[in-house]
Amino acid sequence: MLVTGKEILDKAHKENYAVGAFNVNNMEILQAVIAAAEETQSPVIIQTSEGAIKYAGIDYLSAMVHLAAKKASVPVALHLDHGTTYETLIKCIRNGWTSVMFDGSHFPLPENIAKTKEIVKIAHACGVSVEAELGRLGGIEDNISVDEKDARLTSPDEAVEFVNGTGVDYLAIAIGTAHGKYKGEPKLDFERLQTIKGLLNMPIVLHGASGVPEDSIIKSTKLGVNKINIDTDVRVAFTEGVKSVVTTSDEFDPRKICGPARDNMKKVVMEKMIMFGCSGKA
Ligand SMILES: [Zn+2]
Repeated sequence: MLVTGKEILDKAHKENYAVGAFNVNNMEILQAVIAAAEETQSPVIIQTSEGAIKYAGIDYLSAMVHLAAKKASVPVALHLDHGTTYETLIKCIRNGWTSVMFDGSHFPLPENIAKTKEIVKIAHACGVSVEAELGRLGGIEDNISVDEKDARLTSPDEAVEFVNGTGVDYLAIAIGTAHGKYKGEPKLDFERLQTIKGLLNMPIVLHGASGVPEDSIIKSTKLGVNKINIDTDVRVAFTEGVKSVVTTSDEFDPRKICGPARDNMKKVVMEKMIMFGCSGKA
């Protein structure tokens, strides 16, 4: 069933676990994520980037995810990841997204608050939940690229000011993760997470979690992270699945190339759901 992001994440916040938010841009990825959620009985967030919308078309993604959610035996939310323009956000709200992220993290704080507040007003009037990000993650995600020198961790005081000033439903914070593939091993600032969680007492979001060691992920869920974004690890699982066929045979049937990729993605997504503590919580 299709539900709002807030419905899924308020429960996760109350019961102290995290839900996976998986980036989707074609049918096989979507089916893999939904099958994994059903098999582990996990609530799940399907998310699309602006790049995914550009690639697949907003109407295609909307129709696919609505069908998948209607058929699913677990709660499914449809979320916009890193919405940067007013136009995309409004289009997603009109096309049945139940959660949107407005990423104004590159604006100075007062401007970020003013813009986010406006989005929250519109989204909430339509029954759609809102995520925002404070602080800046390094790395590359789709068309958004942040230099290491511009990355900065979230200030707890600013987080309080931001949430009070905007009314967002959940907040993505920067505690040392980065988008994309890691070069070294990321070190997370757990003390900062704990301080922010204590001050805000609301669902917290972690971006750039692909490649973060399992014990760090588990610790972050215990300390109050409730939504964990996963993109890169599923991309890698897809590509490995495709390669396992095309490098070892002359196969040219797309179903026999994408099928193993779908199975491989499902396996990876199930591992994440169990790791995040959301299995059995649907
Ligand atoms: Zn992100």
